[in-house]
Amino acid sequence: MRRRAEVAVVGAGAAGLVAARELLREGHTVSVFEKSGRVGGTWAYSPRADADPLGSDPGAPGAVHSSLYASLRTNLPRELMGFSGFPLAGRAFAGDPRTFPGHREVLAYLDAFAADSGVAPHVRLRAQVLRVRPLCPGRGQGEKWAVAWRGEDGDVAEEAFDAVVVCNGHCSVPLVPKIRGINKWRGKQMHSHNYRTPEPFQDQSVVVVGLGASGIDIAREISHVAKEVHISARYSEGRLGKIELYHNAWMHSEIECIQDDGQVRFAEGSSVAADTILYCTGYRYHFPFLDLDGFTVDDNRVGPLYKHVFPPKHAPNLCFVGLPYKSIIFQALELESKWVAAVLSGRAELPVEEDMTADVEEEYQRMEDAGKPKRHTHTLWPRWST
Ligand code: FAD
Repeated sequence: MRRRAEVAVVGAGAAGLVAARELLREGHTVSVFEKSGRVGGTWAYSPRADADPLGSDPGAPGAVHSSLYASLRTNLPRELMGFSGFPLAGRAFAGDPRTFPGHREVLAYLDAFAADSGVAPHVRLRAQVLRVRPLCPGRGQGEKWAVAWRGEDGDVAEEAFDAVVVCNGHCSVPLVPKIRGINKWRGKQMHSHNYRTPEPFQDQSVVVVGLGASGIDIAREISHVAKEVHISARYSEGRLGKIELYHNAWMHSEIECIQDDGQVRFAEGSSVAADTILYCTGYRYHFPFLDLDGFTVDDNRVGPLYKHVFPPKHAPNLCFVGLPYKSIIFQALELESKWVAAVLSGRAELPVEEDMTADVEEEYQRMEDAGKPKRHTHTLWPRWST
């Protein structure tokens, strides 16, 4: 017989919405807690940025969740950014039918998905989860969880659930590299989490750190208004120097230090006087509401987690949807959600705790043998095992 669980889902971004749909389809009861006033998570663009341009305190009052910039278009085609049974492809939700639509189109899609899937009535808006704790630790399938949350009126309540699915996103808390001599830096520093438009960089000399999707987009956009753009990237060998096609952009290796004269010095030996260092260096996993023995975030490795989803000690009643990156994200979210829903109902089985732990340890060992840093644990591509 299928088990019907009462499940709390933390977050109503793409992950929380599809997790809720799959849980409902499987016959579970679902409450989705969302701290903001709407669904959509990252895709709810905010023209406002954090007061601190480095976004150092994610718990600061008024901290902004979304890291989108005004001009952002998807970096995956819309065919790969829908959920099964409710495609983003072949129709427009906010009047933007382009293959790589702008962020408003994705947000409108997620609004429509929440309504169409029947998830919307299960979402409690302005409900921030403050703490998630096991009620009867060590009881495996029978382990229950208490969720403490604060509502719009400021009151805090605690409710018990059979299971908690964590979908709080991981593109909100900036990862900022430590730079030798940064205390000598007199210019501005900011993280791409707080970048919105290029205008503030008019006539500036800007060092953009990082060459991921945001780094490339932002460097290109800023180059239209800035005096100079200097891109600093780890894997830049063979492409150092002036970038063809741009009259004002250069590629450098990693930042080595800030010199005594305040210039930015790069590992290849060149240095520049700049106005701003703009870090496009990614994000930190952050679970301020979880404090579990033996469960850590270490150099951006969340663990131990079996296949990025289940912590062996607390599986299946505590689980995570949405941790992997460098994947086809929406499809990965849906597959993880189907797995979680089926495991919670008993339709799918997990290995026993010892076997899941052994699997995680083997994966860590494979990464170590391949010389891969912990912070790449949740990258789905490239595979460590091949
Ligand atoms: P989020 O969208 O971050 O949602 C998490 C939700 O949890 C938020 O609504 C938040 O308010 C809520 N929450 C957090 N903490 C709590 C709490 N304590 N209590 C209650 N609620 C809480 N993906 C793509 O597929 N294609 C792209 O082109 C693409 N471009 C991107 C560009 C940028 C600049 C960034 C930053 C990300 C991009 N992504 C892209 C990745 C994007 O993050 C995922 O597509 C997806 O939106 C992640 O969904 P999520 O639900 O895991 O997280």
